[in-house]
Amino acid sequence: MNSKAISLKLVNISKLYEKVVALENINLEVYKGELLTILGPSGSGKSTLLKIIGGFEEPTSGEIYINGELMNGVPPYKRPTSMVFQDLALFPHLNVFDNIAYGLKIRKKSIDEIKKRVKSVAELLHIEDLLDRRVTQLSGGQAQRVALARSLILEPEILLLDEPLGPLDLKLRREMQLELRRIQKSLNATWVYVTHDHEEAMVMSDRIAILRSGRILEVGEIKQVYEKPKSKFVAEFFGETNFFECRIEHIENNIATSSYGEIIFQFDVSSDLKPGDKVILMIRPEKIKISMNPLSEKVNVARCILKEAVYKGPHVDMKMVLDDSKTIFVRSSELPYKEGELLYLKWRREDITVIRE
Ligand code: ADP
Ligand code: MG
Repeated sequence: MNSKAISLKLVNISKLYEKVVALENINLEVYKGELLTILGPSGSGKSTLLKIIGGFEEPTSGEIYINGELMNGVPPYKRPTSMVFQDLALFPHLNVFDNIAYGLKIRKKSIDEIKKRVKSVAELLHIEDLLDRRVTQLSGGQAQRVALARSLILEPEILLLDEPLGPLDLKLRREMQLELRRIQKSLNATWVYVTHDHEEAMVMSDRIAILRSGRILEVGEIKQVYEKPKSKFVAEFFGETNFFECRIEHIENNIATSSYGEIIFQFDVSSDLKPGDKVILMIRPEKIKISMNPLSEKVNVARCILKEAVYKGPHVDMKMVLDDSKTIFVRSSELPYKEGELLYLKWRREDITVIRE
């Protein structure tokens, strides 16, 4: 049981555009104070989902609740949400101050309150010196900060961000990820963050919901979706990995044995699996250890040839081949080996993840 307060609840949300099914039966809860990332490839329905939460699109069916209150049919400006759009959508004819102040002005706040709140949010985002600038004279990173300030100033119950760092170069994006995360934590705010970049999702999130073709495949904490994914799609979304399709031969004390060619796998299984069941075993490349000498162990080891090694600075990505020409990806911090060399691999029982589909 999770006793955290629920800020947003989506119940059976579906969205059809003519014949295109953009979203199908989405059920999701977002807790107060958490940053939940919706991660999925282009066209998977991320923007549609965010727009439905913000009220810019209505679902074909299903309900949206914020703090327990039904939001269907409520227009965007009456929802306790604010959205940072993918293209930022700043007002080009207004300067930075007026862009940030816009939402408070249409809410008829006093000029004193507006000034105070613009100052405070500008300080938070380090854009105090830009307030008089035209938004057409800003760099990509600055424009991104202004768009964020314009939404944050409304102090929304839930902030919705649609790939806000998309156009920035890699170095700036990495810096902004950390800064956004720091701001979200310092405000103890509830954010729903959309990205197609799994590394960004890992850096920023409390939990990640993986979206594929309009369906949520899995929702979980970062470590859970990376190390214990439930599907091949989710496993591969977080980077190249190894799969071995095999059948369980026997189980003793919740430890199963399977073979794949010469390899004998031993791994932990839950009690609902039985001998004869088909499973896919997943092992991340960085979990595999390399030895130049034959190993004494008989299980969870493999013998292979190093086919290709790519030096990437902090680590080396290697492709090894087994006798049946299957490739095994291995990531190591060093490269004392030669291509064509016979090597021995081993991994721990707990580094094997059992995937059902
Ligand atoms: P993402 O943000 O993950 O790239 P979108 O939510 O923009 O995905 O789109 C999901 C699917 O819905 C896509 O197939 C897209 O072509 C379709 N779609 C999105 N908006 C519309 C629209 N206004 N009319 C018709 N189809 C749309
Ligand atoms: Mg999108």
